[in-house]
Amino acid sequence: MKKIAILGSTGSIGTQTLEIVRANADLTVTALAAGSNITLLEQQAREFHPSVVAVWDTEKAKELAVKLKDLPVQVVSGMEGLLEAAAEPQAEIVVTAVVGMIGIRPTIAAIEAGKEIALANKETLVTAGHIIIPLAEKRGVGIYPVDSEHSAIFQCLNGENRKQIHKILLTASGGPFRGKKREELQNITPEQALRHPNWSMGRKITIDSATMVNKGLEVIEAKWLFGVEPDRIQVVVQPQSLIHSMVEFEDGAVMAQLGTPDMKLPIQYALFYPDRRPMDAKRVDFTALRSIDFSVPDLETFTGLALAYEAGRIGGSLPTVLNAANEKAVALFLDGKIRFLEIADIIADCMSAHRNIENPSVADILETEQETYERIGRRWPV
Ligand code: NDP
Ligand code: MG
Repeated sequence: MKKIAILGSTGSIGTQTLEIVRANADLTVTALAAGSNITLLEQQAREFHPSVVAVWDTEKAKELAVKLKDLPVQVVSGMEGLLEAAAEPQAEIVVTAVVGMIGIRPTIAAIEAGKEIALANKETLVTAGHIIIPLAEKRGVGIYPVDSEHSAIFQCLNGENRKQIHKILLTASGGPFRGKKREELQNITPEQALRHPNWSMGRKITIDSATMVNKGLEVIEAKWLFGVEPDRIQVVVQPQSLIHSMVEFEDGAVMAQLGTPDMKLPIQYALFYPDRRPMDAKRVDFTALRSIDFSVPDLETFTGLALAYEAGRIGGSLPTVLNAANEKAVALFLDGKIRFLEIADIIADCMSAHRNIENPSVADILETEQETYERIGRRWPV
């Protein structure tokens, strides 16, 4: 029996993780955590019987505790509750599927408690990779990527010597606005940006895919996961999302992982690594496949990707500024307060105003996040 905790259980990755639990009798859930969706959390608690359920929103946590009083479950709240769920004593592996850099502290708590990590929450590695990766190494804890590209790279590296990587080829669908120029993106609405051609995901990452900031965050995520500098991570646009990423080795050999775009595969692989379990999902049909296309990303239109490369190269607290500015700007865009192209403009403004801190501590990272929010808040008060 493998015991898992899921942080962000009500989201896109969280609910797909629970589908995998349903399909595998040897998985049990010991802790669940979410922001405020207590209707779904109640159903999940009744179906999966965790011992701890964390709700970020304190009032909602109280409501949930009343609803669940017939079950032997502890309902906790706030950051303390999230940390408790992350370090729940029985869990062997923690799926980090909360959205945003709120995931930093619970991820650290889970590693400190000796848990393996199935990592979906890329914002944590982008901002605190220099803390998380050495800590996991020190504790002898495995970090298994859930992000499809990083799972692909991880699979391509099976049995290989990581020192012999020449470069990583990180594939991108290009999102809903691939091929469009800046002039055509002036009046994009949130509804248009939320329509991703290949993947069904949470709202924030869907907007990140439309701006291609997601790919930039993934470059930094790959830097930390695989120890490869951004200049050796090449983004390749592959619109069919059939190749999930590739690794080129020193001898010129290129390994790729292919599959239909379905997050359940990388989630399941992270949970059972190194085993492969059967999965009831669509397969690639090579008889129906006509072509696989490739192109280079348009960095003049998708300036957020260029900014992320810059942040990834320079490091320190700059990736935190990139990430925090993006989180806030995406929220403003979804609220109808700013235009689509302003997301990258806000990131650029915050990055150029920042005085970089080398090797920032968790406190420095959280302070940088706060400063970035305040800078944006001065212009767009909530
Ligand atoms: P969703 O928005 O669908 O889900 C986010 C989850 O986080 C929800 O369960 C939400 O709870 C919870 N949450 C939000 N704020 C808090 C908080 N303060 N405390 C505790 N829980 C909180 O996001 P996704 O599932 O799409 O993405 C999750 C992470 O995985 C992101 O980092 C994303 O970049 C990454 N990822 C996602 C992919 C995908 O296919 N979706 C692919 C690759 C990576 P509630 O519902 O109550 O608000
Ligand atoms: Mg991805």
